[in-house]
Amino acid sequence: MKKVGILGGGQLGRMLLQAAVNYPVETFLMENDADCPSAHLCHQFTIGNISNFDDVYNFGKGLDAITIEIESVNEEALEKLESEGIKVYPKPSALRTIKDKVVQKQFYKTNEIPTSDFLITNNLQELNSHTDFLPAVHKVGKGGYDGKGVQIIRTKDDVAKGFDAPSVLEKMVAIKQEIAVIVAVNDKGETAIYPPVDMVFDPVLNLLDYQISPADLPEKTFWKVEAIALKVVKELKSPGIFAVELFVDKNDEVFVNETAPRVHNSGHHSIEANYSSQFDMLWRILLDYPLGNTDHILPAAIVNIIGEEGYSGTVHYKGLEEVLQIENVFVHLYGKKETKPGRKMGHVTILSAEKQELIHQANRIKSTLKVIS
Ligand code: ADP
Repeated sequence: MKKVGILGGGQLGRMLLQAAVNYPVETFLMENDADCPSAHLCHQFTIGNISNFDDVYNFGKGLDAITIEIESVNEEALEKLESEGIKVYPKPSALRTIKDKVVQKQFYKTNEIPTSDFLITNNLQELNSHTDFLPAVHKVGKGGYDGKGVQIIRTKDDVAKGFDAPSVLEKMVAIKQEIAVIVAVNDKGETAIYPPVDMVFDPVLNLLDYQISPADLPEKTFWKVEAIALKVVKELKSPGIFAVELFVDKNDEVFVNETAPRVHNSGHHSIEANYSSQFDMLWRILLDYPLGNTDHILPAAIVNIIGEEGYSGTVHYKGLEEVLQIENVFVHLYGKKETKPGRKMGHVTILSAEKQELIHQANRIKSTLKVIS
């Protein structure tokens, strides 16, 4: 049996391991916390720091293949493992391009992939000298996640909110829709593309509010979205699963926002809604099996289960029984013991042929299911 390692034991690692049970594979996981959502689901768990060279190298050296569920991993160690013949998917070169938003934006520009205009700023002083470029969005090059590395800079008065580190200053897009497309690539370079997903954001928490798959897009926009997502992945030159996030603006122009080189939150519904889920697909790629079928079985919505404001401590799910009574609703809890405001604790997938029904049930679930302590 092949030995495959995963770096990172969060909810994505958890769902990846849930899909592994169908394959002849021995799974290894490294995370710094034995209480993480996935430790108990792998064959062999190692406590370690995924951003530390020695930890990653020692974890990976006996394996056949290794993958990630989060970008903050030590890519030097992955490069060494790759040079020693271990299959590292995504390739460390693709990970390097994506990990730093400055490099990522330059990659889009070099490869003529549509993305909003941008400047690079190395510190706040430089940001202050570009007020003619405002309103814009400031994105820190390294270390930002879940909206924490992003600030909207509308006027000179907002400059202090920016990042005093190498960052991208990106023109504001008049966003009509935020779309995500997951693309699978195997080591022969064959690709499979999932139907685009419409992501609806909560403007307060800057976290995903709910999403609908497939996205409602005019045919021309749909083709643009698919072509751009495929171009991004082709130029990254790496097998793996990639989630390309795009903006559709008020004029139906399409721009790449960012890409993740891994299974992604926007693909959670694929567990129930598509013939081969993104997690199933990654095992196929890692283990050299044919790519799966990305078609949807039924349209789907996802609602995130987020820690309620004002509650911290041992988690309690209020309204779970009521939600579990709804037909075609699938609850996924991530097994986190403690809740805090805004923490992602799980998600619910809803299936229905009717878009109105998806939205109705998504709102019903949001108002019924509360994460308290
Ligand atoms: P993160 O990597 O933290 O998810 P993103 O780069 O996706 O950050 O930005 C978070 C959100 O900020 C986006 O989903 C979008 O709503 C908004 N945003 C980002 N870039 C722009 C832009 N150029 N114009 C308008 N809104 C943007």
